[in-house]
Amino acid sequence: MLVRLAGSFFAELSDFCNGMKNENYLSIINSIEDYAVFATDLQGIITTWNSGAANVLGYEEAEIIGKNASIFFTNEDKIKGKPEQELAIAASSGKAVDERNHVKKDGSVFWGSGLVFPLYDASSEHVGYTKVMRDLSERKNAEQAVIEARDYFKNIVDTVREPLIVLSENFIIDSANKSFYDLFKVNKKDVAGISIFNIDQGHWDDPRLKTLLDETADKGESFNDFELRYDSPKTGRRLLLCNARRISGAKSKRLLILLAIEDVTDKRTLEQQRNDFIGIASHELKTPVTSIKAYCEIIQQQLLSAGHEKLAQMAGKMQVQIGKLNTLIGDLLDATKIEVSKLQFKNEIFSFNQVIDEVVEAARAANPLIEIVKETTSTVYIYGDQTRTGQVLHNLLNNAIKYSPGARQVIVKTSSADGFVTCCVQDFGLGIPKENQERIFERFYRLTGDGRETYPGLGLGLYIASEIINLQGGKMWVESEPGKGSSFYFSLPLNNDNAL
Ligand code: ADP
Repeated sequence: MLVRLAGSFFAELSDFCNGMKNENYLSIINSIEDYAVFATDLQGIITTWNSGAANVLGYEEAEIIGKNASIFFTNEDKIKGKPEQELAIAASSGKAVDERNHVKKDGSVFWGSGLVFPLYDASSEHVGYTKVMRDLSERKNAEQAVIEARDYFKNIVDTVREPLIVLSENFIIDSANKSFYDLFKVNKKDVAGISIFNIDQGHWDDPRLKTLLDETADKGESFNDFELRYDSPKTGRRLLLCNARRISGAKSKRLLILLAIEDVTDKRTLEQQRNDFIGIASHELKTPVTSIKAYCEIIQQQLLSAGHEKLAQMAGKMQVQIGKLNTLIGDLLDATKIEVSKLQFKNEIFSFNQVIDEVVEAARAANPLIEIVKETTSTVYIYGDQTRTGQVLHNLLNNAIKYSPGARQVIVKTSSADGFVTCCVQDFGLGIPKENQERIFERFYRLTGDGRETYPGLGLGLYIASEIINLQGGKMWVESEPGKGSSFYFSLPLNNDNAL
């Protein structure tokens, strides 16, 4: 069988084959295992069949020879006349190239490529067609998987409320999500192919952001929580937190940076309002409560002088409660001052041991049922605020007692090394789960569960204490095991001469 195939690769193949003996040609065609190669007559009736065709389509040579090649088309394509159209295109254009669903012998459908070439005999008469087919299901499935993965992530990105934007080379906007377009009141067309620094009339053009993005592009250094004060007629004044990561794939050389933007304008305004309210309310409460405390003291003394001991005792209890109220107000005031960096310190050189002695004595007097063990080293001196340092220890001791129901002992230890003194307040109470240990130093953070809601407090004590220590150049930390107890530590730098 000497044939001539049209089309570049197949024309070469046919020339090559025509130069060979017929058996050689057939053995080559038959050795192509992954491709179905078969010939048909002018009507599409199958005349030859290779072993690859049996692999791909499932028919043995004996059962398929004489059948019309339209058998491999889906019913839908048959109704549309696709088999005939394919042959007509091959005859008129020299080849027909297509990818479509094909049907195997067992009725299963697969995605395959089809190449049809007209077949000529030695006298150049058109005698039929050759069809080469390949099962592309795997490729198609892989493509489908990529499309699905892309759609999946696109849906996530579009659902995220945070504006997200992907920047390519020169910070050109590659894509953005709906939240981005909504926040900046731009549409896809406005920003396509434009550098982020040129959109919204250059309102993004912040040199610090540019430097950070340059570093992300050049060195792959991501950045978090960069505060961008954005003010444009379209958006009004906004406070934006920007986070960026380089997301270029390992193989792809293309530079892509994901920029996530959090609009914290409303959150910050609310925080500010809350702080203002707490500040004003606690300030306004402070004066009347101080007066009540003073009057209460006078009343107690007068009652004692008049011999009304029981009533005097009650006035004493009132004073204790007023004292607690005063502490709460003081904490609120301190927390507000910390927020606006206005916590004042009266720095001086003082004996750390003396502070410990005083605070422990006061705690022993107020909690006669608890044994407060003191294990201190030789006297050390600190340059800082004596009262504030005492406030920290007082707070830790109070917590140690408050969160140790039924426990009888609290230990206060000090040690000094490497220019720092460290104080540890150890209790044998409720303890703190690992996952909460970092957060207890946050403002207003309180643990819940295990009946902890019943313990009074605002969640400010540790926040204030850790700030006081940090502002004096020290640090505070906790080691704790639920059910076994906690050890709160703070360390402070020693006064250089370690003496007065
Ligand atoms: P408050 O005691 O007013 O709630 P704090 O800031 O002092 O606020 O403490 C924050 C939280 O940490 C508390 O609510 C408590 O759950 C937990 N905590 C603090 N100290 C201890 C301790 N010694 N043992 C167990 N839990 C503690």
